[in-house]
Amino acid sequence: MGRRTPLVDLFCETCSRPWLIGWWDQFKRMLNRELSHLSEMSRSGNQVSEYISTTFLDKQNEVEIPSPTLRERDKPMCHISGVKKLTHSSSLSINTTMPRFGVKTEQEDALARELDDLNKWGLNIFRLAEFSNNRPLSCIMFAIFQERDLLKTFRIPVDTFVTYVMTLEDHYHANVAYHNSLHAADVTQSTHVLLSTPALDAVFTDLEILAALFAAAIHDVDHPGVSNQFLINTNSELALMYNDESVLENHHLAVGFKLLHEDNCDIFQNLSKRQRQSLRKLVIDMVLATDMSKHMSLLADLKTMVETKKVTSSGVLLLDHYTDRIQVLRNMVHCADLSNPTKPLVVYREWTERIMEEFFRQGDKERERGMEISPMCDKHTASVEKSQVGFIDYIVHPLWETWGDLVHPDAQDILDTLEDNRDWYQSTIPQSPISPPPMPLGPDKRLNACIDKFQFKLTLDDDTEGGQEEEEEEEEEGKTTHNHMVLDCSQGEEEGEDVEREGDIIEEEGEVGMEEEEEEKRGVLQRAQSGVEIHSDTIPLLSPWPHPTCTHHALVVNPLFPMAKTQDQIRLHKQ
Ligand SMILES: [Zn+2]
Repeated sequence: MGRRTPLVDLFCETCSRPWLIGWWDQFKRMLNRELSHLSEMSRSGNQVSEYISTTFLDKQNEVEIPSPTLRERDKPMCHISGVKKLTHSSSLSINTTMPRFGVKTEQEDALARELDDLNKWGLNIFRLAEFSNNRPLSCIMFAIFQERDLLKTFRIPVDTFVTYVMTLEDHYHANVAYHNSLHAADVTQSTHVLLSTPALDAVFTDLEILAALFAAAIHDVDHPGVSNQFLINTNSELALMYNDESVLENHHLAVGFKLLHEDNCDIFQNLSKRQRQSLRKLVIDMVLATDMSKHMSLLADLKTMVETKKVTSSGVLLLDHYTDRIQVLRNMVHCADLSNPTKPLVVYREWTERIMEEFFRQGDKERERGMEISPMCDKHTASVEKSQVGFIDYIVHPLWETWGDLVHPDAQDILDTLEDNRDWYQSTIPQSPISPPPMPLGPDKRLNACIDKFQFKLTLDDDTEGGQEEEEEEEEEGKTTHNHMVLDCSQGEEEGEDVEREGDIIEEEGEVGMEEEEEEKRGVLQRAQSGVEIHSDTIPLLSPWPHPTCTHHALVVNPLFPMAKTQDQIRLHKQ
């Protein structure tokens, strides 16, 4: 398919109108509709939907009546609250010999075996923590910086490095269930693996690599185990400090950088002023992008980048401009931050237990204070399994699938694991009579589910297998046209509920006549007035962004929702 010119100046080849105008609003409307549909299905569906929309959409919640704030000791606002003087073993005395992996441990051999997986997606960070004397972040940073030779490249004194990473690790809260130094170590190691993906071979400079790893390491430091919204709703000092905008992410950055000023902690002491400046800019960008309320716009930009990507003859991405490179980097760290469901199931389940524990503790705090309990934070009503399935379907899978497109085919194993894990969580959801039918991932299962629930119909004339069979079975529901998929996903059982969900079909100009009669016979044309046109090059279903105003580039499925269910997810073309 034809590649287009870079993002900012992107214009539709056919109608010459700007690419981005319009779709974003439409896209958010679709997501909102999708989520409200989910919330109508069941009570726990409602909670999952609430969680997704409050966490991943940049929405201002209605302001709650603030509960009384605990009056903390008065501190000047210029003080970065998380930074503490530590008396423990952060620093190494000059005479001690450096342990092999930067941390003192009795189990160095076991640790060495775990570190064999340093460059692999499946590394078990929990075991690494166990064998590193509970220093997963220090240990993994040390190993990665050795592996990449970054201490030499940036002339970082090894004792300074170890002092900094230990100090950093100590500023993660060990009593926070999820956002502790294990999570930071996990995100750092995941970023390290993603940086080495073949499609990005030699794309980034050493400084950019240093920045990405540093960003990952500091990205949640001093996390208190409650959400931005909680901090805002409780009038916390942090929310006041950062004016309610990316409160935690701003704080993590401030603490991460401030710790460089501690004794023997300035790991960037031998960088040039210019290098320090650009590193700081990169790191700030990446860490702020870990604010989950930025997820949708991050994903939208990544989608556009995938659509316009250029690769060299050897399949490596061409990223000429700073804006492209930082965009890939911020999405990379964001992917690493949302990578739990892509890890081996045993690791993923451990993460799920931890995040739910952290959510429930926040819920308990909210209950104690008489506040409304945040979605997924009520231990009495939350459905862990459903939340994971919803989280994967609406957030994690769309993101990773897009990343997979960007670095194709490097991320195939990651996507396979994600889909298997999704199916596993789906299979553990207790089935009740009112539960909607499961919607498994994967093109075939996906389609079957759609057919079940919405009499979804998809055929393609040059598809010799699946399409033909489906057509025979449900001929009256859809049709095959030359070089087009035609899709009819009118709702059967729930008709009348929402007019806009009616399936519609429209043909590209000039081709309508050919098949008009046939269409009419099948009662399709009437539904076609505001319909959908699908080019066969949009297969698989997750294809480039449609152009909102021009029928020629009309694509089918909302890229965020691989499991097309309703007309809502299909781009309509009224003109
Ligand atoms: Zn994180």
